[in-house]
Amino acid sequence: MTKIDNFTTFFKYFNKHKKLILKFLNQNKYPFNFFILAVFFSVYSLAVNQIKSYTNLTDNNFNFFLKSNEFNNIKEYIFENLNSPYKEYSYIIENNDTIEKILKKYNIVTDDINNITAEIKKKKLSNIFVKTEIKIVTKEELGLNKIISLFYPINEITTVEIKRNKDEFTINKNILKLNKKEIVLSNTIKSNLYSSAIESGIEPNIIIEFANMFGFEVDFQRDIQAGDKFEVYYERYVDEDNIVRNTGKIIYASMFVNNRELSLYNFKFKNQVGYYDVDGKSVIKTLMKTPINGARLSSSFGFRRHPILGFNKLHQGTDFAARKGTPIMASGSGVVVMAQKYKGYGNYVLIKHNSIYKTAYGHMYKFGKNIRKGVRVNQGQIIGYVGSTGLSTGPHLHYEVITNGKRINSQRLKLPAGKVLNNEARNKFEVERIKIDVRLSNLRKSR
Ligand SMILES: [Zn+2]
Repeated sequence: MTKIDNFTTFFKYFNKHKKLILKFLNQNKYPFNFFILAVFFSVYSLAVNQIKSYTNLTDNNFNFFLKSNEFNNIKEYIFENLNSPYKEYSYIIENNDTIEKILKKYNIVTDDINNITAEIKKKKLSNIFVKTEIKIVTKEELGLNKIISLFYPINEITTVEIKRNKDEFTINKNILKLNKKEIVLSNTIKSNLYSSAIESGIEPNIIIEFANMFGFEVDFQRDIQAGDKFEVYYERYVDEDNIVRNTGKIIYASMFVNNRELSLYNFKFKNQVGYYDVDGKSVIKTLMKTPINGARLSSSFGFRRHPILGFNKLHQGTDFAARKGTPIMASGSGVVVMAQKYKGYGNYVLIKHNSIYKTAYGHMYKFGKNIRKGVRVNQGQIIGYVGSTGLSTGPHLHYEVITNGKRINSQRLKLPAGKVLNNEARNKFEVERIKIDVRLSNLRKSR
């Protein structure tokens, strides 16, 4: 399987450059060129074998190698030594780059630059993204660099392909055909969820979604212990070469933490998607315990010596230390009652969730987009960013839960549960849950 794929990759590479290679062969320096080509392919196959000997490297990794600098250096060396008028570059897009700016870096003739930029603007294909790769093939003619071809991605699945055709350019969009694939991955946690999840090959956006699903039940800072387990069953979108291009939804996820297992199933009813446990209870609670990711609880609710005022005072909230600029989420949906500078709180947001619950957030560096008095927010929406405004000694979030006007300890709060599926919804859920369990056990077996 791997062998065939490598061969295919190689063959594609050869095909892509066939014209160039044939041209080299037709030049006078045939023996020398042949020698260089032989060296090239020896180095290539040596590199392939080297990589294979590392074992267990996936096709993905192999392709990463093809894109790696070392490989490009080899290629460049060979192109240079053949004195070819053709040069191939791969450039990683930086902040504020435009196609025009990039082409100027390679001293491309102005006519080509103007021609290409006008065309892609007209076709609305000029959006490029930082850290993606642009491939440029140029040809030198009488000291001038002309564009032969240009490739760059405009999103995960679309690549723009520009090719010279005499003095014109043809512009095509290559859209990858993606196939949906269902996958089950699991692991035992060694130090933290994130690193163990990455280790098992789960994409970062799936990890974040997973953490959000369990965020109501599990305090990722304090509950997780080495030896806890997790499993995720989700969708991936792969291209023809089996390379993951995108991820879909999480269908099922479970965690074994605090000596109990919690399994959650994705279920859609009347166009509402949610995650439910085996009893059909929604995972969503009215309020989140920790409205911030990747923070450390630095001061809990209760009497303490105030770090700035210096005397003992009841700390009526919970402090989470986090880097300046860390997003703060609305811990429940509701209406913004205040979003302004307020006493020692500095930049402060107060949200009313219902007739009983309010939550408050202090010392923000700045407010979230469109967060102002009267605006309705959803649970998890970003309402501001961690800062150190007001009476504060360093960047942290001061978080308060207010019940019937009284500030209470958010970390001890017994949160009211979300909805429970009933009647028709419950029946449909039971059917769906069994189907998921069957697919899950098949996928586990085929692993
Ligand atoms: Zn505080």
